[in-house]
Amino acid sequence: MKGRVVVFKGVGKPFEIQEYEVPEPEPGAILLQITQAGICGSDLHTYRGELYQAVPEKGMVMGHEGTGLVYKLGKGVSTDSLGKTIKEGDRLMYSAIPACGRCYQCLNGNTNWCSNLFSMLKGVGEFPYFNGTYADYYYITPRQPVFRVPDELPNSVLGFINCAMGTVTEGLSRAGCKEGDYVVIQGAGGLGLNATAMAKDMGAHKVIVLDRMEPRLKLAEEFGADHTINVEEFNTPEMRKKRIMELTGGRGADVAVELVGRAELLVEGVDYLTNGGTFVEIGDIVRGKTVAFDPSTMLAGKKIMGSMMYRPGLLPVMMEMMVKNLKKRPYTKIVSNTYPLAKVNEAFKEAEWFNRQTAVSRGMLVP
Ligand SMILES: [Zn+2]
Ligand SMILES: [Zn+2]
Repeated sequence: MKGRVVVFKGVGKPFEIQEYEVPEPEPGAILLQITQAGICGSDLHTYRGELYQAVPEKGMVMGHEGTGLVYKLGKGVSTDSLGKTIKEGDRLMYSAIPACGRCYQCLNGNTNWCSNLFSMLKGVGEFPYFNGTYADYYYITPRQPVFRVPDELPNSVLGFINCAMGTVTEGLSRAGCKEGDYVVIQGAGGLGLNATAMAKDMGAHKVIVLDRMEPRLKLAEEFGADHTINVEEFNTPEMRKKRIMELTGGRGADVAVELVGRAELLVEGVDYLTNGGTFVEIGDIVRGKTVAFDPSTMLAGKKIMGSMMYRPGLLPVMMEMMVKNLKKRPYTKIVSNTYPLAKVNEAFKEAEWFNRQTAVSRGMLVP
């Protein structure tokens, strides 16, 4: 039996759909039948040629975010990572990070900072062939933690958990977001909406969200934003800072999170902080952008930290938080567009366009 795999051949070239033999999972592995595969911001950076110097001649497999059904369990697998029974047909959430488990960072629990992560990723045509989520199947290695999806969660809220939601939750949690905090979110796309909801559900007293598109800001309010600032209206950093100081009673933000990917927002975000506050850089994943920065602005205990992906233990926590808050937070609105796998070229064209023009937050391939 064969299955389809989407192959990226380089900037400006159409995606190719190739077919490969569906493998038997090795002991400890799981073959997942993909039901949703998200088009993440980093996939769009790859598509634009901003992340990699060169694409291998064979092309690249793509897609890391997503979910699916257990298609086949490898020998020895009968439960998820928490010991819950899993069987064929069950809905499964997996950690998108196949960390090595042996490097210094992994041994200290920071598997999202695994030193060997990128060198271990497999390419086009390499066994087990289904190495990305833009495909009919996805091969979950024995190194990747998996979690059975709680019955209460509808399918429409699952596709973005193991990248968009995980990434912002990790950032907020590493920054120590807690009860009583004032949190500023720069950007109200898929990441920003998840960050807004999570910050509120982690106890933030006020969440203030900035974006340039009114429909996205409206959506941020539905996700729990206490205040929104349209940067077209408040169109200088000075005006925005003044507004944030008003909204926080003159204190400033305890946590500010950058989810847009513009270097100058680091300078602006640090300026929003109260003394001792933390700026979290997540959006700037493309190398080579620089900005002038005055280090003296940090002296009163302000911190700048970067954050990437998530520790897998957050996955079951987030799913339980979603079960608890499902009525309060319109998670079903995060995925705005779905496309069959065969329409992957169209999906990327639209996601690219949508990200600049409309309130669309996440495109999803549904094989
Ligand atoms: Zn991602
Ligand atoms: Zn490692």
